Amino acid sequence: MKATYEFRVLEEFAPLLFEPSEGKRLGETVRKVEIEASDPRFDAIGKLQAEIQAKSDRSFFYGWNIRRRYAQSELQSAKLFHFTVVSTFEPSGEECGTTYDTSTECPHYHAGASQSSSLILNIKKIPKHKDFCRTIADENLVSRKVADLFAKHGITGAIFRPIYPKRSLNAASQDYFQLVVPEIGAEIVAPTIVGVDPFDSDSKGEFRCPYGDLLGLNLLSEVTIDFATIPEADIFLTRQFLGMRRGLLRPEREILISPKLWRLIVSEKLKGYEVEVAQLEPLSMKAGDDKGANQPSNS
Ligand SMILES: [Zn+2]
Repeated sequence: MKATYEFRVLEEFAPLLFEPSEGKRLGETVRKVEIEASDPRFDAIGKLQAEIQAKSDRSFFYGWNIRRRYAQSELQSAKLFHFTVVSTFEPSGEECGTTYDTSTECPHYHAGASQSSSLILNIKKIPKHKDFCRTIADENLVSRKVADLFAKHGITGAIFRPIYPKRSLNAASQDYFQLVVPEIGAEIVAPTIVGVDPFDSDSKGEFRCPYGDLLGLNLLSEVTIDFATIPEADIFLTRQFLGMRRGLLRPEREILISPKLWRLIVSEKLKGYEVEVAQLEPLSMKAGDDKGANQPSNS
């Protein structure tokens, strides 16, 4: 696995570390720079971020992203995958009339509200030609093709619920469904790293719920899952949440998928998602056969 870090650096500060030709200009004021953690300048980015933030109300970098690229052999031998829906649109369900019950939330950081109505959306805003997409509030949708493929191939763990347009609760979309994953409980364990950004692992614990349900803002490493907590399903959720409650945003659980589902998604060339390998603990369990995780009844 090779990890590349992408930073959106303020053009004004970029010459402090980068050559004029490095990266890609995004308009007048921002430059997108890709760098590996092994680059000697990597730590300097963190230092400059801290220095500039301490001196002014600005930052060296604003957005960031970590991309992990895998060798085909790493993907083929993986026992579990971390699945992320990336194709995103607005408005969210809540803005269109979908209701949420907050009585199930943890009082500390407000993780765990439950959807209490059908998903109501502006259906015209759903991206075309994507098999997986999400609203900005992490409501996950799939195309009819996905729902049909899951049924045809016996993929377990997903429920597909109808999506309704605003003000017309008798005309559900024929093309898209809400992806609901009822199987919850995979435990995120060490050495998973969660934090604010690649240089700030939330040492003050500002974004971590003391009750243990919310781990923090962002994943900074691959996710590692306790093998013993993996349910018998092809798609399931972590017990813990990541993110924060702000505006329309809510902390969300991470999605995990089996190698069987990953192979189906790849072979059908489905669109709108990213996957990473999810590591398992204890490591010794990895030596087991491919079916171990999802079919304990075989043993
Ligand atoms: Zn909490």
